[in-house]
Amino acid sequence: MRQRASTALFHGAGQPFELSKQEIIAPNIDEVLVQVSLATICGSDLHTFTGRRTAPVPCVLGHEAVGRVAAPTQVRDAYGNPLHEGDRVTWSIMAACGTCEYCNKRNLPQKCEKLFKYGHARSEDPYFLNGGFGEWICLRSGTAIYRIPDAVSDIEAAPLNCALATVLGGLATLDLTDRASAVVQGAGMLGIYAACCLRERGFEIVACVDRVTERLRIVEAFGATHTFNLSETSTVEIEEALYGVTGGRGVDLAVEVSGSEAALVNSLDWLGIGGSCLTLGYVFPHADVTVDAHKVVTKCLTVRGNHNYHPSALGDALRFVEETRERYPFEDLVGAVYPLKEINPAFDRAMQGDLIRVGINPSLEGKPL
Ligand SMILES: [Zn+2]
Ligand SMILES: [Zn+2]
Repeated sequence: MRQRASTALFHGAGQPFELSKQEIIAPNIDEVLVQVSLATICGSDLHTFTGRRTAPVPCVLGHEAVGRVAAPTQVRDAYGNPLHEGDRVTWSIMAACGTCEYCNKRNLPQKCEKLFKYGHARSEDPYFLNGGFGEWICLRSGTAIYRIPDAVSDIEAAPLNCALATVLGGLATLDLTDRASAVVQGAGMLGIYAACCLRERGFEIVACVDRVTERLRIVEAFGATHTFNLSETSTVEIEEALYGVTGGRGVDLAVEVSGSEAALVNSLDWLGIGGSCLTLGYVFPHADVTVDAHKVVTKCLTVRGNHNYHPSALGDALRFVEETRERYPFEDLVGAVYPLKEINPAFDRAMQGDLIRVGINPSLEGKPL
């Protein structure tokens, strides 16, 4: 194989991406070469872009991606079925070894001792096709690869590989039997997915809290039954409203996906006795939060964190979108798609914060869609 691949190299916060062309190295027998058709800019890409967290550089960012298998392969998909050249696929955000303590005994392959995460590693030979913001990506051994159902579009599929799988993986760690009320803290991509997931599980009350009116309007289209703008409503007023709609008991579940310090504090106030708080948003270091632990004890609360996701959650995420795509406008969540060579304006656009997701399509020519 003598093709060259364009990638967008990240050199550090505050520096522009550099478009680089390198020769594609034929994949090993346990690797899969994929031609990327769409990658979306995740909140954690923006954390790296702004320096809120660091990445080894140069790095090809991007982990919410879809593409087509670009060469014959003996690698099988996550269900053990053969993969064929041309198959539309998405893949877990990480590769795991399958043999270490976390992979084997603790059922936490997402915390594998030899964990590799796409879009977070140094781009260097032979692994320079490491991230989604490039024409091609090389999927390593230990990656869970899923075929995308024909009915699900690239735009619907790309963000679910990180955001929806993270939500479903987190919810899977909790027993939600007989739970009917929730508050979701943050109406970005994870919060929007959390709202529709909870509604589909029969939650009657799914309140959502954010500071951006437009995001709260969007989450209403994804099943939120109550929305509260923290810029206009005090936490005391929200607490009164939540206790009001739950017969004075407080909510059964709080899902923290905002990363804001106040979210965990508020969750402990708004949860009822026996409630659970799932926290997914503190994905950057030094997220110091002071809470009244007395509430955790006296309300018999469960506070559960989850990072990355179990690879099976990606299969759940694909199924979820395939089954519910008629009910929720998933395609509207990607507000603009840019060609790869316009990755710098694409990130600037994503930083404006009014679009839930901005996509990059490496084969797109001309102006952004
Ligand atoms: Zn992500
Ligand atoms: Zn492992």
